[in-house]
Amino acid sequence: MRTLTRLGRHRESLALLRHGDPSPPPHALALPASVISCAALSLPSGVAQIHALAAKRGLLPAADAYLLSALLTSYSRLGCLPLAHQLLDEMPLESTPHTTLRTAFNSVISGCALHALPVASFALFRRMRAAAVGFDAVTLLALVPATPLSVVPQVHALAARVGLATETSVANCLMSTYARGGAFGAALARRVFDEMPLASRDLVSWNAVLSAHAQNGLAVDALELYRRMRSPEGSGVEPDAVTIVGVLSSAAHLGARGVGFDVEHYVRQRIPGFHTNVQLCNALINFHARCGSLPRAQQLFDEMPRKSIVSWTALITGHGMHGNGDVAVSLFERMVSEGIRPDNVAMVALFSACSHAGLYDEGRRYFSAMESVYKLRPTLEHYTCMVDLLGRAGRLEEARELISSMPMPADGAVWGALLGACKIHKNVDVGEEAFTRVIELEPKNVGYYVLMSNIYTDTGQLDCVARVRAMMRERGLKKEPGCSYVEHKGRVHLFMADDHSHPQARRIYELVIRLELMVKEKSGMRESEVAAAKGRMEKAAAQPLVGIHSEKLAVAFGLLNTEAGSEIVVIKNLRVCGDCHSFLKVVSATTNRAFLVRDASRFHRFDGGVCSCKDYW
Ligand SMILES: [Zn+2]
Ligand SMILES: [Zn+2]
Repeated sequence: MRTLTRLGRHRESLALLRHGDPSPPPHALALPASVISCAALSLPSGVAQIHALAAKRGLLPAADAYLLSALLTSYSRLGCLPLAHQLLDEMPLESTPHTTLRTAFNSVISGCALHALPVASFALFRRMRAAAVGFDAVTLLALVPATPLSVVPQVHALAARVGLATETSVANCLMSTYARGGAFGAALARRVFDEMPLASRDLVSWNAVLSAHAQNGLAVDALELYRRMRSPEGSGVEPDAVTIVGVLSSAAHLGARGVGFDVEHYVRQRIPGFHTNVQLCNALINFHARCGSLPRAQQLFDEMPRKSIVSWTALITGHGMHGNGDVAVSLFERMVSEGIRPDNVAMVALFSACSHAGLYDEGRRYFSAMESVYKLRPTLEHYTCMVDLLGRAGRLEEARELISSMPMPADGAVWGALLGACKIHKNVDVGEEAFTRVIELEPKNVGYYVLMSNIYTDTGQLDCVARVRAMMRERGLKKEPGCSYVEHKGRVHLFMADDHSHPQARRIYELVIRLELMVKEKSGMRESEVAAAKGRMEKAAAQPLVGIHSEKLAVAFGLLNTEAGSEIVVIKNLRVCGDCHSFLKVVSATTNRAFLVRDASRFHRFDGGVCSCKDYW
């Protein structure tokens, strides 16, 4: 019987039990095999019958550890948890060997965890500890993922006390559980990782700590961890598709093109048949689309034998960010015609593409089709996109009406979109309303104060600018510093506004000032102003200048260090301001170079004196 069970021939094994000669009775060693066969065939009543038979023969509750464990495991797997509990309750704690007890508790804890009963599994863990039964790695592997996140640190501490917390499987399990807990969870996962001995870290450990950071928006840390993994510290652990997906999402988020290109190279060399790995390809498409290499994203997309909705959405998003609204719309139509039903994320990508390209009619049409055709209920994110779309198109009243028609209360993002539109259209009245609402909801979001103060600046209400600045001071809010970076020869060159720390700072500033002067002359500035600008240029060498935004510095660095004809790619954390935008347009024409700038919301491609956003951003 044991052999048949081991070979997976469960029915034949059970047939022997049923038809066997009743005397002598089935040997105790045959019963565990029958239990396992019953469980494999999903026969809870069979397990219960053998249980009864064994009890009658006096083999239970604790005489036979092997049988006991087979029964408990089978009950737990089959979801017969009351029976498992009952059996556990009948076990004589004093006379049962310690290891048998531990195995018994582990089986039932696993069963409760498997059937999503975290409270029951935790209660059993308490009982186990109260009965002085020591837990082991198996206990923790079942318990930790099912434990509420707020309680995990307690279990972690207990594990650390008995030296289990740095054991590879337990540490990996702790890290992936912590990863669900936002930035704070990522910090806890990092602590587990740092405490592990180098030799205990396997690929799963690296992936767990890396994903904990990548999934929670801590892209810089994720890339740093990847660098460490590839260094001698990684002890030769080779990245797999899971690692690559995490690294690519962080690289896309940061615009770290060099890292992403390296990773793609690795994928092409070392992961054969990666084209059939949908998740991996989607990560690559997303990376290229968001880092300015749309043709490569398109190529990867075309090469995929099987595409998922995520692949389509990544490409639609990319085209949206580049202002190719028409392409995004036709991709969406192609996706639908190929039988893929759009989901909420795809709709967000589509609306935001319409919004960036000013496709007012299409946006409206798809918004009403969302419920009627695609059976999707608009969420806050969709309303935000629509308010943005209407607002940018100058239909501020319509945007306000949409907000008041929403079935749920508007959040900060919705009002923020309206405020952003008021900035484009210099509308103080609607802007003030949106500002009042948005800072009630997100009082600490500096961006909104800056937007309002810019609206006042643009409309010449300087006393109101001072009022907003005073509010920011009172609330202890500081403007997020703008920074831009350019990758050159495998290195990242970071520039902050008015930052002189770069080794080429003097040459960079000289060039910016020369270009500024040229731009001013081009735009027909009065002679006195040109003279003032010239004076400023002369003083430049002697004293640091103020008010030069980081993207100007980054572009000047690119002009000084790259070959004529190559495109200069700049990644910026905030939105490009109006002054820098017109500066970059003129400079692209006079230097005969193209600049691709990714700001907080989209791509601007400056070439021949115009921007791909058509000044609509
Ligand atoms: Zn600027
Ligand atoms: Zn632009």
